[in-house]
Amino acid sequence: MSLQIETYSADDSAHVAQTTSAYGITAEQFSTLRQRAVAAKSTAYCPYSKFRVGASLLTHEGAYIDGANVENAAYPVGTCAERVAFGKAVTEGHKKFKAVAVATDISPPASPCGMCRQFIREFCELDTPIIMFDKDGKYVILKLEQLLPLSFGPESLQPAIA
Ligand SMILES: [Zn+2]
Repeated sequence: MSLQIETYSADDSAHVAQTTSAYGITAEQFSTLRQRAVAAKSTAYCPYSKFRVGASLLTHEGAYIDGANVENAAYPVGTCAERVAFGKAVTEGHKKFKAVAVATDISPPASPCGMCRQFIREFCELDTPIIMFDKDGKYVILKLEQLLPLSFGPESLQPAIA
């Protein structure tokens, strides 16, 4: 079994129209997510890897929360852009999200690491779109369930009813 990965162009209005109708977001939301995720890269603290990542989250209420990677001299302590953004969002009272966008300076688009996929799983429905932008405005979009199949989530820990 292999997953067919399509790459689209954010500058192609037909691609964007197809994406927005398939994933239930507006063209304006798509464009804002792209712009904010790309802009968030400039806030990255990545003196070691020099690999900038920006993330932007769209909440159900229509708010956008951005984040970027924050590295550390003790390398494993560093945090990815996605987890920085979700941490900010959750501590600001947002716990429901409509879409997640990430942007990097490479091509093809980079996807969230395994740890971030699980972190996203805590707060997003399985059909939440994750939009991954490359340095040229090309993007891949997948639902969370496609990035993290057979996942373990909050409902897995619900106590049994006695
Ligand atoms: Zn990550």
